[in-house]
Amino acid sequence: MKNIIRDSVAGFKTLVVGMRVTIDQFFRRPVTVHYPHEALKMPDRYRGHIELVRDPETGKSLCIACKSCEKACPSDCIFVDGLKREGEKRKSATEFTLDFTKCSLCGACVEVCPTDALRFTKSYNLASTQKQSYFFDLMKRMEEQKK
Ligand code: SF4
Ligand code: SF4
Repeated sequence: MKNIIRDSVAGFKTLVVGMRVTIDQFFRRPVTVHYPHEALKMPDRYRGHIELVRDPETGKSLCIACKSCEKACPSDCIFVDGLKREGEKRKSATEFTLDFTKCSLCGACVEVCPTDALRFTKSYNLASTQKQSYFFDLMKRMEEQKK
Protein backbone atom coordinates (compact mmCIF):
# COMPACT_ATOMS: atom_id res chain seq x y z
CA MET A 1 0.00 0.00 0.00
CA LYS A 2 2.87 2.34 0.99
CA ASN A 3 4.53 1.68 -2.35
CA ILE A 4 1.37 2.55 -4.26
CA ILE A 5 1.05 5.87 -2.44
CA ARG A 6 4.76 6.66 -2.89
CA ASP A 7 4.62 5.83 -6.61
CA SER A 8 1.45 7.90 -7.05
CA VAL A 9 3.03 10.93 -5.37
CA ALA A 10 6.20 10.57 -7.46
CA GLY A 11 4.11 10.22 -10.62
CA PHE A 12 2.07 13.30 -9.75
CA LYS A 13 5.26 15.33 -9.09
CA THR A 14 6.65 14.28 -12.45
CA LEU A 15 3.38 15.28 -14.10
CA VAL A 16 3.47 18.72 -12.45
CA VAL A 17 7.09 19.30 -13.54
CA GLY A 18 6.26 18.24 -17.11
CA MET A 19 3.17 20.46 -17.26
CA ARG A 20 5.16 23.40 -15.90
CA VAL A 21 7.67 23.06 -18.75
CA THR A 22 4.85 22.68 -21.30
CA ILE A 23 2.95 25.75 -20.04
CA ASP A 24 6.18 27.78 -19.86
CA GLN A 25 6.96 26.96 -23.51
CA PHE A 26 3.36 27.57 -24.58
CA PHE A 27 3.50 31.25 -23.62
CA ARG A 28 6.97 31.93 -25.03
CA ARG A 29 7.39 33.75 -28.34
CA PRO A 30 8.15 31.17 -31.05
CA VAL A 31 11.69 31.26 -32.47
CA THR A 32 10.64 29.43 -35.61
CA VAL A 33 8.52 30.72 -38.51
CA HIS A 34 5.91 29.00 -40.60
CA TYR A 35 8.17 28.64 -43.63
CA PRO A 36 7.53 29.10 -46.56
CA HIS A 37 4.35 31.01 -45.70
CA GLU A 38 6.28 33.37 -43.43
CA ALA A 39 9.59 35.01 -44.30
CA LEU A 40 12.47 35.41 -41.89
CA LYS A 41 13.65 38.95 -41.15
CA MET A 42 17.37 38.81 -41.74
CA PRO A 43 19.75 40.91 -39.62
CA ASP A 44 21.21 44.12 -41.07
CA ARG A 45 24.63 42.55 -41.54
CA TYR A 46 23.31 39.49 -43.36
CA ARG A 47 24.85 38.92 -46.79
CA GLY A 48 22.78 37.44 -49.56
CA HIS A 49 23.94 37.70 -53.17
CA ILE A 50 24.76 41.18 -54.46
CA GLU A 51 22.29 43.32 -56.38
CA LEU A 52 22.34 46.65 -58.19
CA VAL A 53 21.04 49.76 -56.44
CA ARG A 54 18.80 52.20 -58.27
CA ASP A 55 19.09 55.98 -58.17
CA PRO A 56 15.96 56.98 -56.20
CA GLU A 57 15.45 60.03 -58.43
CA THR A 58 15.90 58.54 -61.90
CA GLY A 59 15.07 54.93 -61.12
CA LYS A 60 18.14 53.90 -63.12
CA SER A 61 21.09 51.90 -61.85
CA LEU A 62 23.78 53.88 -60.03
CA CYS A 63 26.41 51.82 -61.82
CA ILE A 64 28.77 53.79 -64.06
CA ALA A 65 30.36 50.67 -65.54
CA CYS A 66 33.80 51.53 -64.16
CA LYS A 67 34.53 47.81 -63.74
CA SER A 68 36.20 48.35 -60.34
CA CYS A 69 34.05 45.59 -58.82
CA GLU A 70 34.93 43.22 -61.64
CA LYS A 71 38.64 43.83 -61.05
CA ALA A 72 38.33 43.63 -57.25
CA CYS A 73 36.43 40.34 -57.22
CA PRO A 74 38.82 37.59 -56.09
CA SER A 75 36.56 34.89 -57.50
CA ASP A 76 36.16 36.41 -60.95
CA CYS A 77 32.40 36.13 -60.82
CA ILE A 78 31.33 39.60 -62.01
CA PHE A 79 31.08 40.78 -65.60
CA VAL A 80 30.20 44.40 -66.37
CA ASP A 81 29.84 46.18 -69.67
CA GLY A 82 28.62 49.68 -70.37
CA LEU A 83 28.57 52.62 -72.71
CA LYS A 84 28.31 56.38 -72.68
CA ARG A 85 25.03 57.37 -74.28
CA GLU A 86 24.56 60.61 -76.14
CA GLY A 87 23.68 63.47 -73.86
CA GLU A 88 24.79 61.62 -70.73
CA LYS A 89 27.76 62.77 -68.66
CA ARG A 90 28.98 59.32 -67.70
CA LYS A 91 28.80 55.71 -68.70
CA SER A 92 26.01 53.44 -67.62
CA ALA A 93 25.93 49.67 -67.41
CA THR A 94 24.41 47.71 -70.26
CA GLU A 95 25.29 44.31 -68.90
CA PHE A 96 25.97 43.13 -65.36
CA THR A 97 26.15 39.46 -64.57
CA LEU A 98 27.06 37.54 -61.45
CA ASP A 99 28.14 33.92 -61.25
CA PHE A 100 26.90 33.21 -57.77
CA THR A 101 28.32 29.67 -57.83
CA LYS A 102 31.76 31.21 -57.29
CA CYS A 103 30.90 34.12 -55.01
CA SER A 104 32.32 33.92 -51.49
CA LEU A 105 30.29 36.95 -50.31
CA CYS A 106 33.58 38.63 -49.38
CA GLY A 107 32.18 42.12 -50.01
CA ALA A 108 35.15 43.45 -52.00
CA CYS A 109 32.84 44.53 -54.85
CA VAL A 110 30.49 46.41 -52.53
CA GLU A 111 33.37 48.15 -50.77
CA VAL A 112 35.21 49.25 -53.92
CA CYS A 113 32.20 50.67 -55.78
CA PRO A 114 32.62 54.47 -56.06
CA THR A 115 28.89 55.13 -56.48
CA ASP A 116 27.42 52.70 -53.93
CA ALA A 117 25.74 50.90 -56.78
CA LEU A 118 26.02 47.47 -55.16
CA ARG A 119 24.59 46.01 -51.98
CA PHE A 120 23.89 42.62 -50.47
CA THR A 121 20.35 41.29 -50.64
CA LYS A 122 18.57 39.65 -47.73
CA SER A 123 17.85 36.63 -49.90
CA TYR A 124 18.37 33.37 -47.96
CA ASN A 125 16.25 30.77 -49.68
CA LEU A 126 17.93 30.12 -53.02
CA ALA A 127 17.75 26.46 -53.90
CA SER A 128 18.16 24.68 -57.18
CA THR A 129 19.67 21.56 -58.65
CA GLN A 130 20.57 23.54 -61.81
CA LYS A 131 23.87 25.41 -61.82
CA GLN A 132 22.45 27.88 -64.35
CA SER A 133 19.97 29.08 -61.73
CA TYR A 134 22.86 30.83 -60.00
CA PHE A 135 24.00 32.86 -62.98
CA PHE A 136 22.27 36.16 -62.36
CA ASP A 137 21.57 38.96 -64.78
CA LEU A 138 21.56 41.76 -62.23
CA MET A 139 20.26 44.37 -64.68
CA LYS A 140 17.25 42.18 -65.41
CA ARG A 141 16.67 41.45 -61.74
CA MET A 142 16.74 45.15 -60.95
CA GLU A 143 14.20 45.85 -63.71
CA GLU A 144 11.94 43.07 -62.44
CA GLN A 145 11.94 44.59 -58.98
CA LYS A 146 10.43 47.76 -60.44
CA LYS A 147 7.25 45.96 -61.44
S1 SF4 B 1 31.10 39.41 -52.79
FE1 SF4 B 1 33.27 38.99 -53.26
S2 SF4 B 1 33.24 37.07 -54.39
FE2 SF4 B 1 31.15 37.84 -54.40
S3 SF4 B 1 30.96 39.02 -56.29
FE3 SF4 B 1 31.57 40.46 -54.70
S4 SF4 B 1 33.82 40.53 -54.78
FE4 SF4 B 1 33.15 38.71 -55.91
S1 SF4 C 1 32.27 49.31 -59.07
FE1 SF4 C 1 30.17 50.09 -58.95
S2 SF4 C 1 30.05 51.61 -60.57
FE2 SF4 C 1 31.86 50.38 -60.99
S3 SF4 C 1 31.13 48.75 -62.38
FE3 SF4 C 1 30.98 47.95 -60.31
S4 SF4 C 1 28.89 48.41 -59.65
FE4 SF4 C 1 29.32 49.67 -61.44
